[in-house]
Amino acid sequence: MARNLKQKADKLNHEEIIAFRTAILNWYDRHRRVLPWRALKGQKPDPYHVWLSEIMLQQTTVTAVIPYFERFLFLWPSVHDLAGAKNEDIMHEWAGLGYYARARNLHKCAKEVVEKYGGVFPSNQDELKKLPGIGDYTSAAILSIAFDKPANVVDGNIERIMARYFAVLEPMPKSKSLLRAKAAIFSKGQSQRSGDYAQALMDLGASVCTPKSPSCVLCPVRSGCLAYAKGIQADLPARIREEKKSRRYGYVYWITNEEGEVLIHKRPEKGLLGGMMALPTSEWKNDIKYAAVDTLSFLSDSFLSDNVVEDYKAHIEHVFTHFHLTLYLQKAVISDCKEIPPSYKWLCVEEVSASGMPTVFQKARDLFLLAA
Ligand code: SF4
Repeated sequence: MARNLKQKADKLNHEEIIAFRTAILNWYDRHRRVLPWRALKGQKPDPYHVWLSEIMLQQTTVTAVIPYFERFLFLWPSVHDLAGAKNEDIMHEWAGLGYYARARNLHKCAKEVVEKYGGVFPSNQDELKKLPGIGDYTSAAILSIAFDKPANVVDGNIERIMARYFAVLEPMPKSKSLLRAKAAIFSKGQSQRSGDYAQALMDLGASVCTPKSPSCVLCPVRSGCLAYAKGIQADLPARIREEKKSRRYGYVYWITNEEGEVLIHKRPEKGLLGGMMALPTSEWKNDIKYAAVDTLSFLSDSFLSDNVVEDYKAHIEHVFTHFHLTLYLQKAVISDCKEIPPSYKWLCVEEVSASGMPTVFQKARDLFLLAA
């Protein structure tokens, strides 16, 4: 499989393409990872398991996903069960996994699969892409892994392998479509073990062709890899230096009433952490002095001056996709509480802990409880 370095990468002949796939599949037969959503050798994959895992794995590591996947399957063993679940129960179980729009789409998608397709996932990429939360990548992954049909599956692992195998110097994310085209060289028109091939590349990227120090000596396609031949594998894929994330600031409140119950809030359906249970906060602004607490004016006409009894000088840090967040902790006691809006409720401390808040609010809750 060794190639002349000057050889045009997209000029691989049929034998070279087959040799690449064969080497990858042979390696997979010996080194495949055992994962809870994966069918064992000789077993038929369950499209529900494949879909559920692929949605959970978007932007999330395998290690983080495993306990969530197992819990979801325990609670909702089939797509019918998931479609019939309460949305708030799904959001609650998703808490901590992040990117909460995925959970909302998960429920919508399950309902649609049941209502439109009788609970059977379509085995056609165009139909799959019409379902909520399923885009190019996920539809290709479901098609190949669940139905063993040819599809150009390109996740971050596969982009990295292609960037190195073909020594693509153009930086990410500009090179994404080029890397897709490179991956298609090996998948187009190839119907043999499509699902295994996609999973083999994912496994190779996760365990051998890793981001920082690829273990090229263990790689089954080393002899054809241009980056390895040039000694530049650790520098690829090249990346444009990301712009620094902005930072926002705000306050997070531990507000109790006379019974010792804690005020929690269901965030609006649309927007960041939409529909999730949360501790009340001020606005999040790029300067703390602009972080208004108008949202809590229903508690008293002058919530801050009347009720904040302790300012812990403590804060939590959280990183979202586009910004860093610093939330300063404040504790408040409400003595004569007015009626609260329907999106707020009082819960005892144990219920707060079991309410399925996203990680950012779990961090704040833990600090409040530690300081109590
Ligand atoms: S030889 Fe190294 S850089 Fe090339 S594909 Fe294999 S692990 Fe990746």
